Amino acid sequence: MSIKKIKRQLETELREAEKRLQQLAEQLDERPEFGLGTGSTGSYTWEMALARRDSVAEEIETLQAALKRVNAGSYGQCENCGKQIDPERLEILPTTTLCPDCARTGPASVTSRSKANSQVMVGH
Ligand SMILES: [Zn+2]
Repeated sequence: MSIKKIKRQLETELREAEKRLQQLAEQLDERPEFGLGTGSTGSYTWEMALARRDSVAEEIETLQAALKRVNAGSYGQCENCGKQIDPERLEILPTTTLCPDCARTGPASVTSRSKANSQVMVGH
């Protein structure tokens, strides 16, 4: 996959994520009526939307960071060791910042919690 294609893919995903974020924001504007006896389903939906908004916002950040790397010309380089990441890996995980070796061992700064989060995000 060429860098141009990857950039287009990232931009498409970013636009879609922004659309989702917009929809969730609208959903969150309609606050459920707590405490009126009928609100339990409404507040559950609202809380779900809130949780999803957080993960979409995180996704947008990741995509923006990847696009920034594309524009800076550093896309595809491992953030940890500077090695070129295998294009096949980038095709599957376009927002990855680590080569397979570093992804396995993990850079010292990455906590196991944020690593688990990024794996969830990648899995969709
Ligand atoms: Zn590496």
